[in-house]
Parts: sequence; C-alpha cells; structure tokens
Amino acid sequence: MSDAAAIGDGIFQISVPITGSPIGNTLVYAMESPRGLILVDAGWNDDNAWDGLTSGLESIGHSISDVEGVVLTHFHPDHTGLCGRVREASGAWIAMHESDHVLFESMVGTSSDERLTAGKANMIAAGAPLADIDEWQGATPHNPTSRESAPDRILVDGETIALAGRELLAVHTPGHTPGHVSFLLPTSDILFTGDHVLQKTTPHVGNFVYPLEVRDALAEFLDSLRRVQTLGVTRGLGAHGLSIDDLAGRADELIDHHEERLDHLYDAFGDEQITVWQVAERMKWYKPWAAISPLGKTMALSEAAAHLRHLVARNLVAQVPDSSPAVFARV
Ligand SMILES: [Zn+2]
Ligand SMILES: [Zn+2]
Repeated sequence: MSDAAAIGDGIFQISVPITGSPIGNTLVYAMESPRGLILVDAGWNDDNAWDGLTSGLESIGHSISDVEGVVLTHFHPDHTGLCGRVREASGAWIAMHESDHVLFESMVGTSSDERLTAGKANMIAAGAPLADIDEWQGATPHNPTSRESAPDRILVDGETIALAGRELLAVHTPGHTPGHVSFLLPTSDILFTGDHVLQKTTPHVGNFVYPLEVRDALAEFLDSLRRVQTLGVTRGLGAHGLSIDDLAGRADELIDHHEERLDHLYDAFGDEQITVWQVAERMKWYKPWAAISPLGKTMALSEAAAHLRHLVARNLVAQVPDSSPAVFARV
C-alpha cells in the first residue's frame, strides 16, 4: 500500500514507514529535477520502507530509477537508511553536510561491542545506578544504517540544488545534529525542515555526558531556530507529522519550551550538588522517570546533558572540581 500525494507547488510527499517505531514514518519529499527527481531524505532501511518508497513513487507516475539525487537533512537512520538501495537502483548521488558525514562514518564504523563499551562508560560518568546500566545493556538495538548509504557529495550552507526550472537552497540548521540542513524553496515560500522544526513533537537535542562536550547543542539549536525566523518563510514541511503553517510561530514555541526547561532545571538544582543522571531525573518528561524505558532514559540523559551544558555556557551552573562521577552545582 503506497501512501503518496501531490501536495501542491510541484511537491510530492511520500510516507515511508519506520517499522515498530512510535514515530510511525518518515516523510520523504520528491520534486522534479533536470534529470529526474530530487528526494529530500530517503527513509528507514528495511523491505517495508523500501516498498513504501518505491510504490509511492510509482503512484505519482515515477519510478525509483528516476531519482537523480538525494539531499539529506541529517545522518539519522530514519533519513539515511534507504540511501544505499536508492543509489543502487538509480545511480543517484547522495548529499549530506560535512559535520554529519563525520558522525555517519563513526556510526557505521563502530561495532556493537564498541558502542556498548562507550555507552556504559558514558552512563558511569553520568552517575547512573548499576541497575539502570544493566537494564540498558540488555536493550541496546543494532543500527539499521550501513556504509552502503554513505554520502558521495558534501552539502554546504548556501549551496543551490537544481530542480526543474527552480532551485532548492541548503540552509545549515545545526542543533538536532551538528550537520542538520533545511532546504528552502524560495519560489514557494516553503522550508523543508527535516527534524529541526516539527509541528507536533519537540526535536531531540542531545550532548554526550562526560566530559561535557565543547559543542553546545542547545545553543546551536536555539540559534538555528532564530535563523529560520529570519528567512521570512511561512510554511514548513517536516520529516515527521503535520505540516507547519506558521514556521516562525512554531520556532518561537520551541524556543520558549527550552527556555522553560532551562529555568525549571536551574530551580531544580536548589543548593545541591548533583550528577548528570540526577539532572535527568529532575527534569520533566512525557512520563514519570521510573516508567521510562532503558533506551528512553539514555535519550533523556543526552537531552539533560544538553540543557546542563547550556546552563554551564550561561555561567549559571558549573562542575564541582575533581568530582567523579562529575557533580554540578549552581554558580
Ligand atoms: Zn533525527
Ligand atoms: Zn527523523
């Protein structure tokens, strides 16, 4: 069953299923180009997703062999997974920002043993209880993207991609990942937002726990939301969920959401010295901390680390010298 539609402005939207995920699907966008079609993102890598993409293209009068190129918003498997199969079937080029290319290579080049060792070290450094570490070790999934999906073209900010009679403009919007790119269709007042701005969900923004990264993911994300507002674009088409009718307004909501979380976290410190794990426990999540799955807790931990990292950057919180696992307190 294909789920694809012409949504106006010469844009086709194809819903590519993500098997077993609460996110449900990745929305792939297709537009005609000088030699066929350009896709924005490709989708998850399994047979179900492949059927969704190929039958979706057929239902709009195209074939997978028409694909000239795939521009990727970022390196996550629900976006890059199918790239290898698309390239094999069509000879398409695959383009990604340099900063995400580095992460893609490290993702596909790391064995599951290495991932497990690094993840465990990260949780120990965060001050996670042993029971949580054990639970997490029993639940780590394998990665559905492989080297076959590696990009063969690097995207840079401001680059134009030729479409049929018009152009798509790459806009670097780091935060959700360091090399996240949104794509502007200036003639139609539309921005393809990937996972940077979504209508219903709040995109994940994470940092590694310890040592706290130099990179301040939340600062990047907030800056990128403000950058999107300066584009003066009304409509957003994200990779998941509903389209965005008021892009600047939605960006405001996301900025406010994180400012509230930062305020709440600062209050939650009180006069105590707490680990990154305790920071995560004290933040508000979509369900009580104890009810979150082991994998959900590690996602929450990286999101907590990003908020902590940003409070450190604002000079409101600092690490207590020589603490191990690291503990943090208000300045
Ligand atoms: Zn993502
Ligand atoms: Zn995604």
